[in-house]
Amino acid sequence: MKPSQTRLSIILLSLILGVNSLVGCSSSDTVNVETNNTDNQEQTDQQDQLDITVSITPQEYFVKKIGGDRVRVNVMVEPGATPHTYEPKPQQLQALSEAEAYISIGVPFEKVWMDRISQANPKMLTVDSTEGIEKLTMIDHDHDHSHDHDHGHDEEKSNLDPHVWLSPRLVKIQAQNIYETLVNLDPTHQEIYQANLNNFLQEIEELDDKIRGNLADLKQRKFIVFHPAWGYFAEEYNLTQVPVEVGGQEPSAAELGNLIKEAKKENVKVIFAQPELSSQSAETIAKEIDGEVLLISPLAENWTENLLEVSQTFAKVLKEDNN
Ligand code: ZN
Repeated sequence: MKPSQTRLSIILLSLILGVNSLVGCSSSDTVNVETNNTDNQEQTDQQDQLDITVSITPQEYFVKKIGGDRVRVNVMVEPGATPHTYEPKPQQLQALSEAEAYISIGVPFEKVWMDRISQANPKMLTVDSTEGIEKLTMIDHDHDHSHDHDHGHDEEKSNLDPHVWLSPRLVKIQAQNIYETLVNLDPTHQEIYQANLNNFLQEIEELDDKIRGNLADLKQRKFIVFHPAWGYFAEEYNLTQVPVEVGGQEPSAAELGNLIKEAKKENVKVIFAQPELSSQSAETIAKEIDGEVLLISPLAENWTENLLEVSQTFAKVLKEDNN
């Protein structure tokens, strides 16, 4: 019993040293642990990784592109949830004690939770990855009908559009910000991050070319979508987004009537919605115009593939609309 207890305390000591080296970011301690504990190579490598927490899955894609296997990424908003109303779980706040950085993106739940997120780990660096991005105002229903019902419309209207991850051009800015954060935390591996950033910027460039190609010849450039997440995408590629939602809510009967009229006039056959939000009104419009609801997600895990697919879907649907 005794020898194994001694071994256990050596392992415990090594673990404590390992944790210390993580907090202190000093690589010499890590090397010590490696030599004491050679069969634990993999675990040590993991301890050497940067723990980064982000708000939404597309950010996980960006951080992994630039950090490669030097980062471990934790996502706050769980699959199927929306970053507009998300409430982090107590375990998620606790897990932040491991994080070296929180990379935010300006989605609405952050406004409510950022103080508690920072308090969960005062040593954690918090970085706004949208720095340098000029945000658009969240578009609201701007049809020529009056809507004087008051559920905080003015407030909603002054809101900036948070969906900056759906424009490749703006993701380039975010990628640069993420790169700077990783270098700041781990300057020894700057060259790796730089090479990864260059590759990612190249990937974005190619994606942008393909999207432009897919959308180039469309005559119908207007699309109807339940939740207006595609404002930056629409602006970048010269499309017009018509939202069904009004200030984050299902539209009134009158507003719905106007949308149906507009859809018929424009010969729209598809209403877009997203899997994370139920959208009764999208179904209602689709039924009225004898069309269908198509789901596109702003939050898919493989960002590049998703935007490419969305552009292909738009190309197909908007071409059909024009017939
Ligand atoms: Zn949204």
